[in-house]
Parts: sequence; C-alpha cells; structure tokens
Amino acid sequence: MSRPCPNSECLTRNLNPNLGRIFRKGIYFRRSDGQRIQRYLCGVCRKSFSSASFGPCFRQKKRKLNHRLKLLLVSGVSQRRAAIILGVNRKTVVRKFRFLAHQARLKQEAFLSEFSKTPLSEVQFDDLETSEHSKCKPLSVALAVEPNTRKILGFSVSSMPAKGLLAHTARRKYGPRKDNRPIGWNSLFHSLKPVVHSQSSWLSDENPHYPSHLKRHFPQATHRTVKGARGCIAGQGELKKLAFDPLFSLNHTCAMLRANLNRLFRRTWCTTKSQTGLIDHLSIDVDYHNRVLTPSGPTLGGQFKSI
Ligand SMILES: [Zn+2]
Repeated sequence: MSRPCPNSECLTRNLNPNLGRIFRKGIYFRRSDGQRIQRYLCGVCRKSFSSASFGPCFRQKKRKLNHRLKLLLVSGVSQRRAAIILGVNRKTVVRKFRFLAHQARLKQEAFLSEFSKTPLSEVQFDDLETSEHSKCKPLSVALAVEPNTRKILGFSVSSMPAKGLLAHTARRKYGPRKDNRPIGWNSLFHSLKPVVHSQSSWLSDENPHYPSHLKRHFPQATHRTVKGARGCIAGQGELKKLAFDPLFSLNHTCAMLRANLNRLFRRTWCTTKSQTGLIDHLSIDVDYHNRVLTPSGPTLGGQFKSI
C-alpha cells in the first residue's frame, strides 16, 4: 500500500507516512461504472478509505459522463443542449463544466511546464473580441499562440468599453465600462515568462498599446508588428483571403475557437453570461486544442523551435 492515511487528524501523518499500518479491507464495485475498488483500513485511526478516495472524480456519481460532456462542450454544443443529449439536469452540467475546467487548467499547467527547460523562441499574439450578456458589454480575450504548431500558450479575459455605433447606447444603458485590457495583457505576458525565451521574437498586429506592455515583461525580445488584416479587409472574420497572412497561426486558432465554442460563434443565440464562464469554457477548449486538435511531436517540444 503506497498511500498514506487521508484522515487529517490521523497520527500516521505526523510519523512520516507509516505505511505498515494500512491494511486492505475488502473491495466494492463502484455503482457509477462497475469498477472494482480496493478498500483500506488505517490501523491507527481505524478509519477506512479506498483507492478512489484520491482520484479527481472522488464522490462523483456520474463520472462516465465527464468525457462525453467535454467533447460536446468543445464541439459547439450549449450547456443546456448537452444536458438534454446526456439526459441529465442542467445543474449537473454546470457542476461538471466547472470540474472539467479545473482539470483542464491543471493539464495545461503540466503541458506548459515542459517548455521551462527549452523555452520557446516565437510567439504570436492578438485579441479576440466577444461580449458578456449583450454586445454593449464587450470582452477581450488576449491570446498567445506558438506559430509552428498552433499550440495555445495562454489567454486572459478582460472587460472593455463598447466601440463604434454601440458606444453611446452602451454608456446610456450600462454606464461607463472599465477598460481592463492592460491588466489582461500584463497577466498574459507574466504567465508566459517561464516558457518563452527572453530573446524571443513576437508578432502581433499594430495595436499601439502592445509594445509597452510587452517591453515590461520581455525587455530583450524583438517585437514585429504587421498591419491588421481586420483593418484592410472588413467582414471576413478571422481567416482573411490574403495572399499571405503573417499572423496565420493566430488567426487560424481564433477561427477554430469561433467554430468550436458555441458562445464564440458569430450571430449566435448563445452568449456568455459571466467572465468566469468564458474563462472556464476557454480553459476546457485550450486543453483539448493542445492535446487533440493540433499535432504533437514525440516529445511535446519536438516540433517547436527553441533557442
Ligand atoms: Zn489513519
């Protein structure tokens, strides 16, 4: 038995896991998936536990639905429709949605930690715009992508005031709205510090705010900007019909997000209700995108250009 007693008040915890005091105590078949689970008894505190006590799905009654729900959520299905398809209550879907997001963030952390030894040399970044509840309350998703494999390195969600024709209506209906994009950019660049080389090359569009924020976190990096295609060709979404798009990897990734997350569809009936919901949904998709949708090398860093 390699597990210490999970009881926080048990004396074995102070005795540097005293493994000899844990005994096997029968088995049971888990109701939700019929798996055979070993039970254990702690000889010191006389409490019992099982091999399932340490799993991330501990105490879940419908663990079999986790994977299917994840596939639905990253395939353009809404949470309500997922509840109908899986035959469960909407509240179950919400709980599992948050659980899956948490698990996805842990996996993404582990994925990124692979690059701490061989930091990346190239990054593309840009903002993707969406909204919460109404078009009058826009949100900005800052996104960083590795251009050779299109792996998503990180993102941050921040509120921004409405622009253009909606600006006046938005102020009248909802009052002034804070522009938190600088906070978002700073947190994104800060989170990338351990995985991106200090002398890396960055590519973005000509947003005038980017250079100063990037300089603060990566003073030795080279930052190249290209004319935003959004400015020269309107109405073509993320994938523009250009002869050559220098920001192709990033725009392609944004297009995939827009195709896979129903809340990011254009002209959709489904909207983000809270920033936390959007962050959770993006976390689930980022993990799926990096592990399943984009090619992976023999080692995760195998296909990356590292300095
Ligand atoms: Zn114990």
